[in-house]
Amino acid sequence: MKVKLLRYTADAELLCGTAALTSTKSGSPSEIFKKMDTETAKRIIKHVTSYGHVSVIEHASFTFSIEGVSRAMTHQLVRHRVASFTQQSQRYVTYDTLEKYVTPRTISKNAEAKDIFDGTLEKISETYQKLLNLGVPKEDARFILPNAAKTNIIVTMNARELRHFFNLRCCARAQWEIREIATEMLKQTKKAAPALFENAGPSCIELGYCIEGKMKPPECNVEEIKKRFKEL
Ligand SMILES: Cc1cc2nc3c(=O)[nH]c(=O)nc-3n(C[C@H](O)[C@H](O)[C@H](O)COP(=O)(O)OP(=O)(O)OC[C@H]3O[C@@H](n4cnc5c(N)ncnc54)[C@H](O)[C@@H]3O)c2cc1C
Repeated sequence: MKVKLLRYTADAELLCGTAALTSTKSGSPSEIFKKMDTETAKRIIKHVTSYGHVSVIEHASFTFSIEGVSRAMTHQLVRHRVASFTQQSQRYVTYDTLEKYVTPRTISKNAEAKDIFDGTLEKISETYQKLLNLGVPKEDARFILPNAAKTNIIVTMNARELRHFFNLRCCARAQWEIREIATEMLKQTKKAAPALFENAGPSCIELGYCIEGKMKPPECNVEEIKKRFKEL
């Protein structure tokens, strides 16, 4: 799998800092923006978002290329409605590349499970090809393709939605593939706009406790998680 932050709003922190000051200053946004510096932006964003005025960070958007992931992962990703997506279409792209599917580690490290998995997917692949050869259109032949099928997707989220996405999907309770993708996205956004993603990560980092209650994974330790995400 590969995650690449393709583009993000220029001067994202300065822009969100300007939005934050626009509500309390008499000057125009353009005047505030002209005078804005990184330190002021960082301070004001932290202050304003700490009392719940999080909409100011919606002015910064981030676009990622997410490549070679499973359809099982993208099915979860596209549940996040405050985002924009474009995914490789199985109506137009034939399922015939060399590396067609994602193999979970629990399967790849178990020889017997891997044999069953690979054999089944090979059979699916052959059947898919046979259907195409019989003249069945790609949009119908794809009905037999598995959750493991590889795909590419481009996603754009604003910083507020990203923080919410990280709360849910960097959490140990999230499925491993979307968790790995989310963690890599966070690593790249933290580098691009640190002021917008301070303390971003699973929700326990900001809350100080696990919202999962009885479902909290036994291995989770909030202090360790805080440290790990700070050093990301
Ligand atoms: C660990 C885990 C397990 C999950 N298991 C399941 C499962 O078993 N089955 C399943 O179907 N899903 C499951 N989900 C998906 C989950 O239910 C959400 O659909 C997904 O996480 C998107 O979250 P969201 O709605 O908060 O985000 P977004 O869609 O990005 O929305 C962001 C926020 O905008 C607001 N919002 C967006 N749309 C509306 C709306 N229509 N009305 C009111 N407010 C809105 C909400 O405040 C929301 O939190 C799981 C998610 C996780 C993290």
